[in-house]
Parts: sequence; structure tokens; C-alpha cells
Amino acid sequence: MPLDMAKSILVTGGAGYIGSHTVLQLLLGGFRAIVVDNLDNSSEEAIRRVGEIAGESRENLTFYKVDLRDKGALNKIFSSTKIDAVIHFAGLKAVGESVQNPLLYYDNNFVSTLTLLEVMASHGCKKLVFSSSATVYGSPKVVPCTEEFPLVAMSPYGRTKLVIEEMCRDIYHADSEWSIILLRYFNPVGAHPSGHIGEDPRGYPNNLMPFVQQVAVGRRSALTVFGNDYSTTDGTGVRDYIHVVDLADGHISALRKIFEDAETGCEVYNLGTGKGTSVLEMVAAFEKASGKKIPLVIAGRRPGDSEILYGSTIKAEKELKWKAKYTIEDMCQDQWNWASKNPYGYGSPGSTNYK
Ligand code: NAD
Ligand code: UDP
Repeated sequence: MPLDMAKSILVTGGAGYIGSHTVLQLLLGGFRAIVVDNLDNSSEEAIRRVGEIAGESRENLTFYKVDLRDKGALNKIFSSTKIDAVIHFAGLKAVGESVQNPLLYYDNNFVSTLTLLEVMASHGCKKLVFSSSATVYGSPKVVPCTEEFPLVAMSPYGRTKLVIEEMCRDIYHADSEWSIILLRYFNPVGAHPSGHIGEDPRGYPNNLMPFVQQVAVGRRSALTVFGNDYSTTDGTGVRDYIHVVDLADGHISALRKIFEDAETGCEVYNLGTGKGTSVLEMVAAFEKASGKKIPLVIAGRRPGDSEILYGSTIKAEKELKWKAKYTIEDMCQDQWNWASKNPYGYGSPGSTNYK
């Protein structure tokens, strides 16, 4: 049931993978979505397709091609529309790149968040949902990770997430009118069941499933498995994969809490399934869903990788009344549906989206 037809949600990074799926769920849930994205790692085609799937609700979708560090442009948007809350996805997310070029990450991820929060405060908009990451748990000694686990930055990327989390806690302590929900995502995969929107990384895919998908459509010859000597059932790394539509729905639940519970404060929630799946199990599930063989090359461990990472979902279930419902089979089915319909994502073999 729509929460409130009139609520306007500004979605930074809304043209990206998780953002586009969340914008769709917002529109279908009766919200207005104002997307701000510089299209650094995305395509306007994603926004067009979200509108298409949303049908009549597309009239509640607005897109601004704006960089978040452009304070003047952000101010203009907040002046022209009353924003009720912000979901902040925008950021760069390649761990390796952040190690090579930390200044880029501090500028793009941290400065843009600082600018956004300043503009929000000056317009009296004090409701925020922020994309944090399970990377802040580092390599925990035990799993599942609960929200109380000690936090650690494994890379400049992870450090931007940690610092922004801390900044949000400071802001709330200074001014209790803020309501902030920090969502620590585990591993989003899959695509909308329509197959019209999905993940379309620019350049070389860093994450497992985008890589598997590109092997399946013939863009890459084999998947390199990073390590088969971990203490896991088959020796490969274990992660908590979550369907991107479940993840998107988690944001709607977070917003619902922010709007309905004046005591929200600044809270953090894991968004995962609570289950671990190994690399080889993921590959087997994808092969089954697609009917494609994924050739493997076994290589050494990727530096900085943890062995087993999955999260406890108890807090989100209890307080956000949200629980992931899609299975690994659904994730692989929907990933393949998207990949087979869009082997080059939103682009074509010759476009800049494809390297
Ligand atoms: P994505 O790259 O698909 O989306 C991010 C979007 O932000 C892109 O559309 C990009 O163009 C935009 N953007 C980047 N910098 C910007 C700026 N300065 N101004 C305006 N727009 C800008 O990534 P995603 O997978 O959808 O991730 C969304 C968020 O979730 C990110 O903050 C990411 O760190 C976080 N996260 C992602 C994962 C994952 O595995 N995908 C896991 C944990 C956390
Ligand atoms: N992985 C792999 N080959 C790849 C990409 C990833 O074997 O090309 C493994 C990686 O070592 C980890 C799992 O797949 O065990 C998930 O990796 P991803 O980068 O998707 O997520 P993260 O490690 O950030 O949780």
C-alpha cells in the first residue's frame, strides 16, 4: 500500500545498479523520485527504462544530470522541489581503484556526501538513508556479522563508508531532528525480473556475478576464481548474495520507518539474507539457470578478500519489518534474463559502456 502519495524522495546515484531498482520500487510504491546522477558509472537509458516499467507512475520520475559536488546545482534542486527524504547511493565503489587513487575516492565519495548533507541541512531536509557496506566488517573472526561488530576499513573505499557513517552519527548527536538509516549491504546480485534493468558496470567487472554474466554471453573467456584453499566447504570464498529487488525493497522499509517513527535517530541495519554461498555454488546455480558452461581458471587469493562474510538479518527483520525473499536460484535466473536480453548492458559493442 502506498505510504503517502505526496512524498518526494531525492535519490542520488539513482541511474546506477541499486539506485535504478530502488527508484522503480519507489515509483511503484507511490513515491515521487527525483534522481540526481552524474552518469559517471551509469546510463540515462536506465532511467528511461525504469520509467517504462513504472507505467503511469513514470510521471513521478524526474532526472537531473548533476554531480553531487556541484553545490549550486544541488541547491537549485532543493529550492525548486520540497524534498521529504534523501536516499544517497551516489559514489564510486571499486575497491582496487580506491587503493590506487585514494584522493579520487575521498573527493567523490566524501566531499559529495558532505556537500549533500550541507545542502539538506540548509533546506531543513533531515531524513536520510545511506548506502554503507558490509566491507566495514573487514574479515570478521565469526559470522554472521551483527551490527555491533567492530568496524574496520580495509581500503580507502571502505574508509569513506566508515567516515560517512561516523559523520552521520555526529550530525544526529548534534541535532536530534535528523533521522538517518545506514544500510550495510552484503552482495547485491540479480536484476529486475522484467530483464529491462540490471547491472552494467563500465570497464572490467570487479564483482563476481557481472563477470560470470559476461563470460556467459561470450564477452570474456573464463572466470578467474580467486582462491580455492579457504576453510570453506569447497575452498572458495563465501558471501551473502542478495537479490537487488530485495535490497531495493529494504530501502522502502527504511523510509517507512523514518516517516513513521519519530524516534528513528541514527540507526544501522544489515541488508543481506543471513546465508553464505561459495563462488563455486554461485557458478553452479548460474550454469543451471542459464544452461551455459562457465569455464574456470583457479588463481590465488585476491588481496584483502575475506574468507566468509555473511550478515545477521535479525535487526532489520525486527525493526524494519523487512526480510529478503528471493533465493539464489531466483537471483541467477533474473541475472541471466537481463544478460541474455542485454548482452552489452545498456550499450552496444562499440559504445563507451563496453570495454
Ligand atoms: P553504481 O556505480 O551502479 O551506482 C552509483 C551511481 O552513482 C552511478 O550511477 C554513478 O554515476 C553515480 N555517481 C557517482 N559519483 C557521483 C557524483 N559525484 N555525483 C553524482 N552521481 C554520482 O553502484 P551501485 O552498485 O548501485 O552502488 C550504489 C551504492 O551502494 C554505492 O554507494 C556503493 O558504494 C554502495 N554499495 C554497493 C555494493 C555493491 O556490491 N554493488 C555493496 C555495498 C555498498
Ligand atoms: N571472485 C572471484 N572472481 C572474480 C570476482 C570475485 O572468484 O572475478 C570471488 C571473490 O574472491 C569473493 C566472491 O567472489 O570470494 C565475491 O566477490 P565480489 O568482488 O563480488 O564481492 P566482495 O568480495 O566485495 O564481497
